[in-house]
Amino acid sequence: MRVPFGERVLTGIVVAGEPRPAPDGLRQVLEVLDEEPVCPPELLATAERVADRFFASTGEVLKSALPARLPASGAVRYRITEKGALGAASAAPEERPILERLASGESVRVVDIPGEGRGRLSAVRALEERGWIRPASGARLRAPRVELAYDLGPLRGAEMESALGRGRKGREAVAFLLALGRPASGAEIRAATGAGTALLRDLVAKGLLRSFEQDRRSAGTGTTAGQSRFEPTAAQAMAIDAITAAIRERRYFPALLEGVTGSGKTEVYLRSIRAALDAGRGAVWLVPEIALTPVFARELARQFPEDAAVLHSALSERERAQAWDRVRAGRARAVIGPRSAAFAPVPDPGLFVVDEEHDASYKQRESPRYDAREAVALRAKQAGAALVFGSATPSMEAYSAARRGRLAHLRLPERIAARPLPRVEIVDLRRQAARPDEKGIPLFSAPLVARLSEVFARGEQAILLQPRRGFAPFLLCRDCGHDFRCSRCSVSRTVHDRGRTLVCHYCGERAPRPLRCPECGGGVLEAIGAGTERVADRFAELFPGVAHAVLDRDTARRRGAASAIVESMIRGSTACLIGTQMVAKGHDFPGVTAVGVLSADTMLNFPDFRASEKTFQLLAQVAGRAGRGDTGGTVHVQTFHPEHPAIRRASEHDVAGFAATELEFRRAFFYPPFCELAALLVSSADRDRAEETAAVLARALASSSSALRLSGPAPAPLERLLGKWRFQILLRGTDRRAVLAALGAAVPERAPAGVQIAVDVDPQDLM
Ligand code: ADP
Ligand code: ZN
Repeated sequence: MRVPFGERVLTGIVVAGEPRPAPDGLRQVLEVLDEEPVCPPELLATAERVADRFFASTGEVLKSALPARLPASGAVRYRITEKGALGAASAAPEERPILERLASGESVRVVDIPGEGRGRLSAVRALEERGWIRPASGARLRAPRVELAYDLGPLRGAEMESALGRGRKGREAVAFLLALGRPASGAEIRAATGAGTALLRDLVAKGLLRSFEQDRRSAGTGTTAGQSRFEPTAAQAMAIDAITAAIRERRYFPALLEGVTGSGKTEVYLRSIRAALDAGRGAVWLVPEIALTPVFARELARQFPEDAAVLHSALSERERAQAWDRVRAGRARAVIGPRSAAFAPVPDPGLFVVDEEHDASYKQRESPRYDAREAVALRAKQAGAALVFGSATPSMEAYSAARRGRLAHLRLPERIAARPLPRVEIVDLRRQAARPDEKGIPLFSAPLVARLSEVFARGEQAILLQPRRGFAPFLLCRDCGHDFRCSRCSVSRTVHDRGRTLVCHYCGERAPRPLRCPECGGGVLEAIGAGTERVADRFAELFPGVAHAVLDRDTARRRGAASAIVESMIRGSTACLIGTQMVAKGHDFPGVTAVGVLSADTMLNFPDFRASEKTFQLLAQVAGRAGRGDTGGTVHVQTFHPEHPAIRRASEHDVAGFAATELEFRRAFFYPPFCELAALLVSSADRDRAEETAAVLARALASSSSALRLSGPAPAPLERLLGKWRFQILLRGTDRRAVLAALGAAVPERAPAGVQIAVDVDPQDLM
């Protein structure tokens, strides 16, 4: 609705209350924009709980949950048609006033049509379906050409008998479909047996029927939905059965699906989605970055043509709003998308899948700092749904929850067709001599070059991981050691454009690379280290004529670019994919037989308690891209720390071994999952004011509870960003409510002028 707010007019969402006129002294609502609630009650409740959980406001959470521009259903205008004018006399009583209001021929908004709420809306829809009125704008409340159809569900024989029970009409409906030998529309079934919508829905819930929407024009022809391509393996079948049972029984079933790379987790997701739809329920499938996984979206659309909705990050606002509307109306019940799809308004969700559960992108870095994994967990609990966290390298949180029995532990211990995991060779960079044409440490070690030559000679493919983008991480003056820091952030700028530009990766500030050092006037400036650009250049020198592509945030910036690069690997027109973390994410390229990690150490050096975990995950994930076809694969990991447990365990594909060491460290130093953690960041252009506010805040937190552990305030690892000085406080405790209560008591509603306070509950990085 639109409401006056001071001098302005704002759009708001009604979360509770009854409509009544404003008492004296209060201002009236200007306009009600929607006939039906924009946000289903289930989601409103979720948004409120997510807000509480992450110390955000409900409004903020709703704003990131809802598409930016929802078409207001009440604003759609209607006009009467000739048919409507002729039929007016024979209209139903509730329809008559509508036709009278439109009789003059002008177009009228739904909100201005006589009647109220759902009653008015269904009358409008009924008239529209008969072609008596039509939308004036071309927009529609609802595509009128679809209808619900039913087919037999998975139950047969004795199972069917016992599910049928004694109901006569139910039996007749099932017998009718058995005799017919094809799906039928709800209208056909009712005409033949008298079974109404409520009864049919009940039969669907029992697993006797499955329902889907079909085009009215194709009525009677059944669906053309593509089926799954494989018979599940025994391990897959066990996981699918456990998930399916929970969906049918409407039972909350949180599970970790731990499956090595290439073990067929995707097939488990797809079959579980089918089970949810067969039970008449919906499904939400979260993926870290949908542009990188076009294959998943395509497979979903192939298997469930009527039901799939892809909430692509490249959708326009309008497309996003349309997709949201289709989902809310129950016309698309299987949704795939990134973090924000956690709020997809699927009615009666029976399944939530979080693929690559360990991925940090599920946590929003800006306000509201919510975690999509937590949001879907809240929804699943509420709805009595299955909740599947899938990963080959689970987060320590999920792994320890599975160990303690808080998540069911489903496992796919082997690759499909018993393909072996690739052999991993750790290359100790300290022992690699530079080649005559390179200075210092070689980018490509001798064993890696030998292996790549072999792979390309056989026409196979390779992936090379270099965790930094750009040409080189920094520029150094050989004479005075000046390192060209950003003027606003406390980091050195990265060399880009083959050495021509300097870019700050935090604020984006760009400058041409100077010819001389601004400090000492020296002329010998050297680009130190390597990013993806330099690796690609060196690759072209070593393997002339071998087609390669670079995938990182720079090359993926253009809309559609990332999926184009991924598709070129699938087609085989690219022989080598070079890139950052983005090359490690869930791809299934059967032609890849070699993986090279040019530097495994970048993440290890991050000042973050998750540095080891992130390194382990990245290495195990990228290693998992090798040997997924029939030919087997190898991985070379180049490092200066060959003995580090994260690197060792990743090379052995040993999740349990890594988790044992890592969880011990987390317990000893009181880090998640053994504590509840909140990070407070105080920033200001004025260093003293930031420091002072942080000190006041820390005192308030200390006095609000003695059971909590406080660290800081201390300068944040990234001490200055965009010209602002940053101080960090960490708050830890064993009880989540105590942490939230302390925050509530200590964090002021408004920060002092010129100072910002950001609260991050369950932070994923501490920069
Ligand atoms: P993960 O997601 O666990 O890394 P994928 O789901 O990508 O693994 O599966 C690996 C490969 O095995 C894919 O090419 C997939 O099509 C194939 N696959 C999955 N399940 C089966 C099965 N039951 N039979 C044969 N092939 C399968
Ligand atoms: Zn900067």
